[in-house]
Amino acid sequence: MAWSSSNRDARFNPGWERTRKRILERDHHRCQWIVTDWHTGAKHICGYPANEVDHKVRAKNGEPDDDSPSNLWALCPYHHKQKTARESGEARVEKRRSREEAEWYSRPAFR
Ligand SMILES: [Zn+2]
Repeated sequence: MAWSSSNRDARFNPGWERTRKRILERDHHRCQWIVTDWHTGAKHICGYPANEVDHKVRAKNGEPDDDSPSNLWALCPYHHKQKTARESGEARVEKRRSREEAEWYSRPAFR
């Protein structure tokens, strides 16, 4: 599988597919993003179906990412996108975040 892409998550590590699968299984294919309840301030995980595995802390300046399980978690497409946008330094995404999150959670189900 030799494909090049500008996608930040394109992996050069041939073991990535296996690592990814293992993390998804560990996290029960549920998004591990910590959500704070608007009203109570209680924290809980998102829990939406996850199909992305993300690095909690990304390496800086082109160094290889830390692929150890403690640095990886499953995320739903929404939170993965949000985190990636945040990492890109798009502050304006932050401003829209609350509204979009409310919209997201009002969905009856994730397809
Ligand atoms: Zn999520």
